[in-house]
Amino acid sequence: MAAVPEPGGEGYSRAGAQSYAAEWARAARQLGFVPLSAAETERLLLAHTALLAQALLAETFSARPAESVGRALVEAHLAEPGLLDWSLAALGDRFVAQVLPDRAGRPGTAQRVAALQGGLAAGFAQALRDRTFTQQERIARSAWQARDIVEQALRDSEARFRAVFVGAAIGIGIAGVDGQIIEVNQSFADMLGYSVAELRRTNVASLFHPDDAAGMWELYQELIEGKHDAVRVEKRYYRKDGSVVWTDLAVSLIRHDDGRPRFTVAMIEDITERYELQQRLRFQALHDPLTGLPNRTLFFETLGRVLDDAGPDHRIGVCFLDLDGFKAVNDSLGHDLGDRLLVEIARRLAECVAGHGHLVARMGGDEFVILVDGGEGIDDAVGVAEMALAAVSAPVHVGDQQLAVSASIGIVECPSGETSASELMRAADTTLYWAKAEGRGRWAVYDPERSARDIARSALVAGLPAALDRGEFVVHYQPIVSLLDSSMVAVEALVRWQHPELGLVGPDQFIGLAEETGLIVRLGEWVLGQACRDAEAWRREFPEAKLVVSVNLAARQADDPAIVETVACALGRTGLPAALLQLELTESAVMGTAGEPLRALHQLAELGVRLAIDDFGTGYSNLAYLRRMPIHCLKLAGPFVEGIRPGDADNPTDHRDERIVDALVRLAHALEMWVTAEAVETGAQAERLRSLRCDTGQGRWFGPPVPAAQITARLRGDHVPGEAA
Ligand code: C2E
Ligand code: MG
Ligand code: MG
Repeated sequence: MAAVPEPGGEGYSRAGAQSYAAEWARAARQLGFVPLSAAETERLLLAHTALLAQALLAETFSARPAESVGRALVEAHLAEPGLLDWSLAALGDRFVAQVLPDRAGRPGTAQRVAALQGGLAAGFAQALRDRTFTQQERIARSAWQARDIVEQALRDSEARFRAVFVGAAIGIGIAGVDGQIIEVNQSFADMLGYSVAELRRTNVASLFHPDDAAGMWELYQELIEGKHDAVRVEKRYYRKDGSVVWTDLAVSLIRHDDGRPRFTVAMIEDITERYELQQRLRFQALHDPLTGLPNRTLFFETLGRVLDDAGPDHRIGVCFLDLDGFKAVNDSLGHDLGDRLLVEIARRLAECVAGHGHLVARMGGDEFVILVDGGEGIDDAVGVAEMALAAVSAPVHVGDQQLAVSASIGIVECPSGETSASELMRAADTTLYWAKAEGRGRWAVYDPERSARDIARSALVAGLPAALDRGEFVVHYQPIVSLLDSSMVAVEALVRWQHPELGLVGPDQFIGLAEETGLIVRLGEWVLGQACRDAEAWRREFPEAKLVVSVNLAARQADDPAIVETVACALGRTGLPAALLQLELTESAVMGTAGEPLRALHQLAELGVRLAIDDFGTGYSNLAYLRRMPIHCLKLAGPFVEGIRPGDADNPTDHRDERIVDALVRLAHALEMWVTAEAVETGAQAERLRSLRCDTGQGRWFGPPVPAAQITARLRGDHVPGEAA
């Protein structure tokens, strides 16, 4: 035999494995006949021990190796059922402690062990079944070759056949094609709890069990019609006393010389114990060991089935629940209390929701899911979610702590047949994220349009860097006009994305994303360079216009330590005088992340560039700081300007906005700042703002953002200043 492969890595105790294998070999010899020497048995089982250890340690876990171990046991004729029991028990009780002591008690170990037990049992059972089948086929084949099993047995070796038939541990029965039982052996009769004589008076049709697998009797029918030579199923029988026996049933057809069906030979093996063990293992594999709730696997199994089975009016909902701030509980109070909290939450959810027939499962960590099987109506998922939130929110006592817990829920409701389980759960996950984003203790309902927008937004983000490389961005310019003489004194540079499929995309669609991803720094640098180039071209052609270009700086750019150098560089490269560049920052950008005005502002001002506060009045205006900062211009936010409109009978003018603008203009002038009003849309607004001594205005009334060429045309005088756009 080849050398025993040793699992690499942590914690494999060779000595432990050897003593484990020795005990295993001892058990094998005690429990049945072993055709190998003691040393051979031990070496074989040591190899299996190593395989199991390897499987348990594997990075990606699979129970397959355990299956092959189970199979190999049978193939090596270590096939006593008692040995299977021993092997499973030892695997569960002491395998880890003995062979992989470092893994004991580590998360996931118990689940892996349970799965290995399942694999081993399944492999063992499979091999046993295969062996039985082969044996049976051998019998059937030899019978076939002698043309007729019964006559053959009677004529040639009656005695031997009888011996096999009577002595077999497997139940053997022979029936006619009409189903009438002709002969059964004692094992068959014992398994079903009848006497041989009673069964000889029985028709197989009466051995039907109401829960027989669908199609089983059709298969039998086809067999006796000669369409198959053998069928094989797991079938349960009622014994005479009403109890149930699970069997592995194999039926073969014996034909007449001319091929017509003549007899059926059935072999049954009692697999009740194995079946129950499998059921137990299946329960373990499908339930969460901590809370006892169904686990993720069972949930997906059930969901898939419900989706497949549901009729068109059947409403199915999923509530995906996640505790708020559970990590903090775990970190501050320890995992033990965290676990107890989860157990309590699981209990409450099961109590309040499972009572209505809905499945509650634990998806992992602090995530639970409720499958709302609404049937033809009654409970809707929102109602269930509210019940669940209420159940969770009552204070929880764990140890001597009282905890206030809340959860967020993402709800997806769907009529059946329209989606797969995994799509449904992806939607639930997205929705849970929305609910969390809105605050704690809330639910949100899935909205396909919102999701489509989210996806489109993410697709847009993904495309940004390449678009910048491909030169898909353009800068448009919007005039900023003197309210005194209507001359164009500046232009604001506003970026657009010339998207190959979507057309011209406005900055509101991508600036936020570019900020989140940090790409704004590169994009902003490009806009700055382009704006300086265009402004320098205008200065050369129209020197007396002294046209200022005003460029927006995102918070992230303003916070970038390299900003001063970037601006100096752009000016140096293009030759634009610093005085003709204005940088627009919002109030929050000015205050920086540290909560105090950016130091870079002074350095920028020292370069000679102008600084403007954009959208003034929409942030937390801290007027006290304004005084100490090198700001040259306030741009009053659109909403103030919007409030300046002539009243009518229904809406008398509210003078409040006017009074605010008046006060702000006075304050700005006292601090020696200019004031630009944004979003001026009508002549009346322009007029009012002029009388309030606002210096400049920007907005549709003075012209929308346009490509650079149109600004050039306007500077040439092709445009009548002050004319509405
Ligand atoms: P903003 O800096 O406040 O720019 C003014 C916005 O008001 C522009 O929208 C402009 O088209 C719009 N607007 C112009 N006239 C009117 C009007 O009469 N009424 C109303 N209601 N709005 C008017 P746009 O071009 O969509 O830009 C939106 C925002 O995107 C800008 O607001 C700015 O914050 C940002 N943005 C644009 N370009 C850049 C850029 O190059 N870098 C950075 N960081 N942000 C930029
Ligand atoms: Mg701006
Ligand atoms: Mg603005």
